[in-house]
Amino acid sequence: MEILRKCPCCQSEAEFVDIPVSNSLLWQVSCRHCGLSSELDNDRIVCLRQWNRREREDHLKVKLFFVTTGGALLSVIGFVLGIALGFNGGFS
Ligand SMILES: [Zn+2]
Repeated sequence: MEILRKCPCCQSEAEFVDIPVSNSLLWQVSCRHCGLSSELDNDRIVCLRQWNRREREDHLKVKLFFVTTGGALLSVIGFVLGIALGFNGGFS
């Protein structure tokens, strides 16, 4: 059995919730504290994996954000340095 991870939002305990839809029962993983939840599925394991994957994806997004921001910053520095060096070259 795989472990149900804590909420990626508030780090609270998450739990399985069963929701009756039509004539069947669907599962969802939901945070007890902030109400963040996975998508509905009739398979608990699918729900659990969706929930655990959500956490990883959120971490990935944060990493991507830093990579793109860092890259943009470097190109700005490069651009400014290029102008500075260009001016120096012109005067000498
Ligand atoms: Zn939460």
